[in-house]
Amino acid sequence: MDNNATGLNHIAIAVTDMDAAIVFYRDVLGLHLDRVEEVKEEKSKVAFLPLGSSEIELVQPTADDTGVAKWLVKHGPGMHHIAIQVTDIAAAMERMKANQVELINLEPRRKSDGTLYAFIHPRSAFGVLIELYQTGE
Ligand code: ZN
Repeated sequence: MDNNATGLNHIAIAVTDMDAAIVFYRDVLGLHLDRVEEVKEEKSKVAFLPLGSSEIELVQPTADDTGVAKWLVKHGPGMHHIAIQVTDIAAAMERMKANQVELINLEPRRKSDGTLYAFIHPRSAFGVLIELYQTGE
């Protein structure tokens, strides 16, 4: 069965104190910090720490009205979601719908680099927020 998934693109960790989080993940845990970016469309600051063929992303909201900001109020800092790399997000989403899986966004969202992504609700994924992620060319 072709499940269209080819890897783990990233794990996102929600943080309230980016500097302190970087001190731990880079200086103590020893991961390489590739860059820190302001991601306008997500209203957040994101630190990218490549790890093998995947990446850890530290996400700190820059506004109070984002999904991650609301999640932080409820849960505190912690693992927010995992992103599964897919080759065909439309097919992956059709498969979710055909299996009565609850999607948070019914159409893929697009990042400025052409990446398409969509979230599966944790209610349908055993408590884990899963991002389907198709990178742009
Ligand atoms: Zn993500």
